[in-house]
Amino acid sequence: MDTPIKKSHKLHNVCYDIRGPVLDHAKRLEEEGQRVLKLNIGNPAPFGFEAPEEILQDVMRNLPTAQGYCDSKGLYSARKAIMQECQRKQIPHVGIEDVYIGNGVSELIVMAMQALLNDGDEVLIPAPDYPLWTAAANLAGGRAVHYLCDEQADWAPDLEDIRAKVTGHTRAIVIINPNNPTGAVYPPEVVKEILEIAREHDLIVFSDEIYDKILYDGVEHVSTGALAGDDQLVVTLNGLSKSYRCAGFRSGWMILSGQVAMQRAADFIQGINMLASMRLCANVPAQHAIQTALGGYQSINDLVLPGGRLLAQRDITVEKLNAIPGVSCVKPKGALYAFPRLDPAVYPIADDEKLVLDLLLQEKILLVQGTAFNWPTPDHVRIVTLPWADQLGDALDRFARFLERYRKG
Ligand code: PLP
Repeated sequence: MDTPIKKSHKLHNVCYDIRGPVLDHAKRLEEEGQRVLKLNIGNPAPFGFEAPEEILQDVMRNLPTAQGYCDSKGLYSARKAIMQECQRKQIPHVGIEDVYIGNGVSELIVMAMQALLNDGDEVLIPAPDYPLWTAAANLAGGRAVHYLCDEQADWAPDLEDIRAKVTGHTRAIVIINPNNPTGAVYPPEVVKEILEIAREHDLIVFSDEIYDKILYDGVEHVSTGALAGDDQLVVTLNGLSKSYRCAGFRSGWMILSGQVAMQRAADFIQGINMLASMRLCANVPAQHAIQTALGGYQSINDLVLPGGRLLAQRDITVEKLNAIPGVSCVKPKGALYAFPRLDPAVYPIADDEKLVLDLLLQEKILLVQGTAFNWPTPDHVRIVTLPWADQLGDALDRFARFLERYRKG
């Protein structure tokens, strides 16, 4: 019997290239004993950004009582803390039952897409995007339709492009704010315009706000749910992975808001409840971190304010990138990434995955190609701004050296 065992057709349109083939090359280099600087994944802890001590203490103290399953939506105390966070963020009328805790935002994105989409249903997703959104929509039988974000306008969503791409099959629109990979933080007016388009076409709005506390230059984040009317269903996603630096705990949440719209959405909500039940519950020990995180001292502020480590790293990244001939980088206002453009007139790149692989092999630096974020042209890369400033500076000098060789042919 040598019939090949094949993957499901459901996976034909599904990819997640942040952990794609180039990562396998990096692992091979490491196995050979070479040191690779991995600027490919927004995972704070390995770069010395440890979770606040009080979070670790609370998880450890609660471990003995966290052995059993809990409610499928999550621990009451954690959901209550999330509900209170909604009050702080002015997302109206959120009750305990409107909060779902998951094994990271990732699980909830997949769950929400599965609950919503029929074959051929379309979801408007930004380009560039965090590619799990595209993968999850396609896996659920839907079709990810990408609307462009405009680099010339600080990567704000192109509203005309959104309007042009709404069809009779569109069910939802996704906003990632603050954005991964661009670092854009959208002004409330832009979000309001997207909400208006959603209202006109009766679309659900999914708002991924996992970086809502990683903000630079005094910029403020306003939740989409705080700007929407009661007649609009907004699904807000957030979690502990980034602001509280414990991505490995796998703890995130999803909030449904829009009091009036929720009545219309009863069937969809029933679907979500069923999918939440099917996976029994999210990891319980990590749920004990949520109340402590949201209620405690917000140490992330020390990292993003002037003098803070994350801000210094964002600054050196942007400065060094913009000093490279033919490279330009819009200054990120939030999150943990830079998404520079490599001018095609200077760097005629046909295959950006190959570019990233060459960089890895020559300079032992791992980035992710822009097309992995569903950016349509091979002229961007994403750089994680988590290493110490001197390490980032050194990596970017090596990137510049690599590009100079590339330019000279
Ligand atoms: N959403 C965005 C925009 C992200 O960047 C990430 C992780 O990088 C996630 C969701 C997934 O987060 P989690 O660790 O909660 O699954």
